[in-house]
Amino acid sequence: MINKSWIVFIGAPGCGKGTQIERLVKKNGFGSVAVGDLLRQNGNHVVPETGQTVAGLMNSGSLLPDGIVVGFVEADIRKQVDNGKRSLLFDGFPRSVYQAERLDEIVANFDTEISVVVDFVCNEEILVKRILGRFLCPGCGKIYNDFFSRPFKDGVCDVCGGNKFIRRNDYNELSLKKRLSEFREKTAAVIDFYERKGILRKVDAAKNVASVRASVLECLGLSEKENV
Ligand SMILES: [Zn+2]
Repeated sequence: MINKSWIVFIGAPGCGKGTQIERLVKKNGFGSVAVGDLLRQNGNHVVPETGQTVAGLMNSGSLLPDGIVVGFVEADIRKQVDNGKRSLLFDGFPRSVYQAERLDEIVANFDTEISVVVDFVCNEEILVKRILGRFLCPGCGKIYNDFFSRPFKDGVCDVCGGNKFIRRNDYNELSLKKRLSEFREKTAAVIDFYERKGILRKVDAAKNVASVRASVLECLGLSEKENV
């Protein structure tokens, strides 16, 4: 009865899930339901319970009511299915067991179910290095990292020879570690929820992009160029 693949991706900041999703969208035809993007797009939406906008609540660090988030997700699923997408990847959702249960109900209305949940496992030391070490050349867009991929010549871009770099991140080591531990606490129950259903698969996200892609494709039962 199920001829679509609807998949949940779980992973901390820096785990590389975004890169994998991008490739699955481009090479395999998935649609992506990215909650971070949906919240940004709906920033001006007023949350009735609070009288504040979505952006206002997020900026003040307040939690958004589950109902609002679920509503955005449901509307986006509808839009993507209407646009002909058969298989969807959920990124940044669900973040609670309540959301996970609501997602089950929503997908049942589309006559499918969540078939696999991929958990991107990566130790904190690597996540911290990936995020804090990242910098980029504004001239050509090449991305570097202090720990993993420095330019051949310090201070000079390999690609365009530029000598100015930008560091774009909102964290210092302390705030990043706090964010990572909050993430672990929040998602533990969700991981447990899917583990009990028997659909959780773990991927070693400390490996390089190509190896992680191979593992992800294996979890999804897909070959490199297979269209979903
Ligand atoms: Zn450059």
